[in-house]
Amino acid sequence: MMSKLQNTTESLNSHSFNTLAIHAGQAPDPLTGAVIPPIYQTSTFVQDGINVLRNGHEYSRGSNPTRNGFETQLATLEAGHAGFAFASGIAAEDALLRAVLEPGDHIVLGADGYGGTNRLINRLHGKWGITNTPVDITDLGAVAAAVQPGKTALLWVETPSNPLLGIADLAGWAKIAQEAGALLVVDNTFATPFLQRPITLGADAVVHSTTKYIGGHSDVLGGAVIVADKIFRGQSLAETVGFQQFAGGAVAGPQDCFLAARGLKTLGLRMERHCSNAAVIAQWLQHRDEVSAVLYPGLESHPGHELAKTQADGFGGIVSLQFAGGEAAARAFAESTELFALSVSLGGVESLICYSSEMTHASVIGTKLEIPKDLVRLSVGIEQVEDLLADLELGLSAARNASLAEASV
Ligand SMILES: *Cc1c(COP(=O)(O)O)cnc(C)c1O
Repeated sequence: MMSKLQNTTESLNSHSFNTLAIHAGQAPDPLTGAVIPPIYQTSTFVQDGINVLRNGHEYSRGSNPTRNGFETQLATLEAGHAGFAFASGIAAEDALLRAVLEPGDHIVLGADGYGGTNRLINRLHGKWGITNTPVDITDLGAVAAAVQPGKTALLWVETPSNPLLGIADLAGWAKIAQEAGALLVVDNTFATPFLQRPITLGADAVVHSTTKYIGGHSDVLGGAVIVADKIFRGQSLAETVGFQQFAGGAVAGPQDCFLAARGLKTLGLRMERHCSNAAVIAQWLQHRDEVSAVLYPGLESHPGHELAKTQADGFGGIVSLQFAGGEAAARAFAESTELFALSVSLGGVESLICYSSEMTHASVIGTKLEIPKDLVRLSVGIEQVEDLLADLELGLSAARNASLAEASV
């Protein structure tokens, strides 16, 4: 039996983001006064009589105070109605899809998105008769045209997108979803709730890989679904997703929730630095001959710049760039930096560099969703920006040499 929802957001909303990040769902322990709520490392809870539960807790797959505290903290920051934490971002996405879809449903899927989301929807959910139409996230006409009346149950979009940094008009997507009687799901991993709150723009659900900026230190895997107060197919989304979490069981453990909650407390400070470092780096790269394009929504030259300014409070910490010297230059750059570690993932305090086409997006090679081979993605960390620029200089010099070597062949 599922205990009553433990993770509905509190009415703390008169406070600002950085205050809520520290206090929502994170009240001191009432029993001991411990300022930091304890990690409830327990699988089960003693009952005061048969089915007489203390505060609704029975078994940690159904509810656990450490998980519930984190769920409340994140749902509050996303201006959502309820939040649910899972073992990974993909587990969260899978749970949401299973919770709301029925066999034969259709999804309008933003084409420029996380490779693993595409793989999940096509290869796992495809088997159960779920179909999808990939669409250009920046083209609302194409989004509307992709809707199959009576069949489309879900619109799914990521903005800024990965790794092309496209900007989708979330209010526009929400309107199309609403007219179709479908749900709008936004993957808010790149922007984070500090910069963008999709539920306030009309989204019905937000998903996160809390592995990234929310955890923030590259030391924990996790995911979350945050839902609006919404009825879909006759049931509240919070109940549907809550039941899936309990019955499907892909829950986040208490240690992981503790780490994610601790990370979330400093999200605002970290994002400010990620954004300012990324802006400096994007500007700097723009003036380099080795670089043919810099993709960063904070640049005035970016086609989504004005839109990003209206729907988000900043442009994020991810910068992608393309090389005049093509694939050879991109590969040499990605393999030659020292502070920027060659690695998948993003959103930690440390800078990472990724050759997207063969690392994060290998699953779409050979399809029309494949990533250009001259593209490298930077997850700009919070180190001192001058040190990061010096490190990128090493990469650019390797890119130049690779281009020269190739030209002389
Ligand atoms: C990493 C990522 C995911 C998947 O999350 P995991 O925690 O790796 O399972 C989903 N969406 C985006 C945008 C991501 O960056």
